[in-house]
Parts: sequence; C-alpha cells; structure tokens
Amino acid sequence: MNPELLRRLPKMDLLLARPALAEHPLPYPVKRQAARQVLDDCRRALREGALASVPGPEELEGAVLRLAERLSRPALGRVINATGIVLHTNLGRAPLSRRAAEAVGQAARGYSNLEYDLPNRRRGRRGEAAEGLLCSLTGAEGALAVNNNAAAVFLLLSALAAGQGVAISRGELVEIGGGFRVPDILARSGARLVEVGTTNKTRPADYSAALESGAARLLLKVHPSNFRVVGFTQSASLPELGALARAHGVPLLCDLGAAAPGSPELEEAVAWADAVCFSGDKLLGGPQAGILLGRAPLIDRLRSDPLARALRIDKLSLAALEATLLDWRDGAAVPVSAMLSAEPAELRARAEALREALNPLCPCDVVETAGEAGGGANPGEALPAWAVALSPAEVLDDFFRRRPVPILGRIHRGKLLLDVRTLLPGDGGEIAAALRAWRGDTL
Ligand SMILES: *Cc1c(COP(=O)(O)O)cnc(C)c1O
Repeated sequence: MNPELLRRLPKMDLLLARPALAEHPLPYPVKRQAARQVLDDCRRALREGALASVPGPEELEGAVLRLAERLSRPALGRVINATGIVLHTNLGRAPLSRRAAEAVGQAARGYSNLEYDLPNRRRGRRGEAAEGLLCSLTGAEGALAVNNNAAAVFLLLSALAAGQGVAISRGELVEIGGGFRVPDILARSGARLVEVGTTNKTRPADYSAALESGAARLLLKVHPSNFRVVGFTQSASLPELGALARAHGVPLLCDLGAAAPGSPELEEAVAWADAVCFSGDKLLGGPQAGILLGRAPLIDRLRSDPLARALRIDKLSLAALEATLLDWRDGAAVPVSAMLSAEPAELRARAEALREALNPLCPCDVVETAGEAGGGANPGEALPAWAVALSPAEVLDDFFRRRPVPILGRIHRGKLLLDVRTLLPGDGGEIAAALRAWRGDTL
C-alpha cells in the first residue's frame, strides 16, 4: 500500500469541523466517537487493500452521520415481526396490550404504591392485586408472581423438594432452551431426581412404584413445550397423577410452560396439581414473569422462602401483569390471543391489503404458508398463515434488517415472506415506507 494514502485521510478535528457535522444537532461526543470509528475503519481498509483510494470528504461525512445516528439510539429497540411466530423468544415474546403498556409507563415515570397499603398507612404486599386477579381468573386458592417461569420452577423445587426425591418421567427431562434443563435445575434446587418410565412411555404405575419404594416424596410433571413425541407413546395424565398424589399424601407439582386463563389445560392443572407454574409472556400475553398458582398453604411457603426475595418480580413487569390480567377479566383480547386466534380468511384479507400497498413499489404476491405459535406453545402444530412474498429476497432482507426499525421476515424458496399474523397496527405503513426508501436508494 502507498503510505501517502493514509496521510490523505483528513484529521479527525478537521472532519468534525465540516459544517454538515459541526452544525448537526447530535451530541458532540457521539459525533466524535463515530468519526474516530469511521477513520479507523478507513485506515484498516486501506492497509488491507480492501479500499484502493481515500474516500472524499462528503462520503466520510455521510458515513460519520449514519454511524452517529445509529450510536445515538439505544441498541435495544423495536423491530417489526413479520416472521409469523407469535411468541418469538428472540424478539421479546409477547407484545403488550395498550392498557399494559400504559400501566408500565405510569409505574416507570413516578412513584407508586408498589408495597404500600394506602388505607391502612402501612407497608403492603408487592403483587397482592395481581395475585388476587390470578386467583379469581383461575380458581386457584393462592398465587405468586416471580421474575420468570425458570425462577418459578427453581423456587418450587427449592422450597418444597430440597433433600427429597422427585419423581419425573424420562420423557420430561427436557431442555427448555437457553440452557434451562430440567435435571440441572432439579439438582441445583437440592432435590433428588427419581427418573421413572422411559422416553416414549411412562405409566401411572411407574410413578406409584417410585412412591411405594420411598424413593420419591413428590411428583413433577413438565410440559414438553418445544418438541413432540409421536408414534408408540404414553404418558400419565394430570388427573391420573393427581389421584396418585392424593392417595399417597404427596404434592404434585406441574410446570405448564405456557397457559391462558380459562383454557382446559390450565383448569385441569389447577384442579389436580398442588402447585402449577407458567410464563407471563407466553400464552398469557403479558410481561416476562413466572406465575405460580396452587393451594394456599403451599403458595404461602413459597412466598416466605428467602429465595422468593431474590426472584421477585420488578415493578414495571408487575404493572404490566396486573393490566394484562385486567384485560383477561374484562374479556379484552390481549395481542397474543388475537394473533393466535386470527382466522385464515382474515389473514388472507390482510395479506391482500398489504400486497395492494406494496405492489406499486415492488411487484409481489400473496402466498399461503405455515406459521407457528412459538414460545413452546403447541409445538409441531402448523398454523395456517398468509404472507406477502417479495423479491429480490436476500437484497431486501439485508436492507430491511438495517432500517432504523428493522423488518424481519423469512426467506423461503427465493422469496422474502412477510407473514401478516404478527404485524401490529401501523407496521404495514412502515414496510411500505421502507420499500419506498429502498427504491429511492436503488433508482
Ligand atoms: C418457557 C418454559 C420455561 C421457562 O420460562 P421463562 O418464563 O422463559 O423463564 C420453563 N418451563 C417450560 C415447560 C417452558 O415452556
């Protein structure tokens, strides 16, 4: 490389003094950080031969401004979910209802009666109102909300099963994701794993053998959230396990993973298990939280366990949770329920409306495809889905991902599919604006 080239790069101060940069309202430290990074990148590219000549000042200026704008925004931000996966763990799972989002804003901006009993002028209990709602919505005697469902499972086992044998089916010794493995969490809680049955078949008699031999003092049922066993299979139902637990006078614990108030699955679990837990941000459609439901004395033991303090729910999540539960009480569909229950005909009509809006900008088609609930709800069950198919797929996907509000679709058979099930109000307009910007860039 010609060393002259490096010397031709402008000094950082001179670059920053150019009017377009000096007069730009972004904070100076951000502009300086961006200028340093752009110049460093140029120097490296020149040395490595990736760049043959020094970019002109306008080009450098533009690069600095683009980077400075990106650096001035938080890295964590909104994206448009056009994947069709409603409970996408990597995209923050459940979008909150308007009521829940407003409750978060209120709790965030000022002080709140988080742990204050106003009429009685004394300390109150965090989460009491949400817990009351959980009981009335589900028929459970007691309820407790913690940080997330992983915390709920850990609290359940630590507080109720430490030092004791817990019978669990070999078919339920699963990894939920993100390194959360049932056998590991059980070991960490101080409980002893008593494996019963086989991977594909576990009968009630397998559990009773573990209870009768004295090896197990508790029963645990874990919902196989993210996979499905098909073929020659059998498992013990909650009513069967509940009857067994009652006959032996031992508790039955159940990690449901995901649950919606009023669903037969949750009603059955509350009826038969002594304690049930599930996530706040899966089918419930609320914030990250772990919901524990069960018999009152058992929930009281969980609440008074020292771990409960370490695993407690934060005030913003609690505000969102209470508002989400009020939505359920009032019969107002939370966004997750509305998305999951959208009828194919309605989805098709929405896909056609989106195509009409996008077609003048980029020729596209409406296609029928298969979506999924995600978040460990109904694995392997395809949801009938409708999408708008765009091309050139890779080029558009790259462009969409670099937008200030990135748009995430799915490439399938050479087309970029934008599934309308997971689009929120206003997303269609933003997709059209992105396509307009893309045309502006390429024409
Ligand atoms: C999702 C899930 C968890 C973990 O819940 P988080 O709220 O993500 O902590 C635990 N158990 C089961 C069965 C699950 O599906």
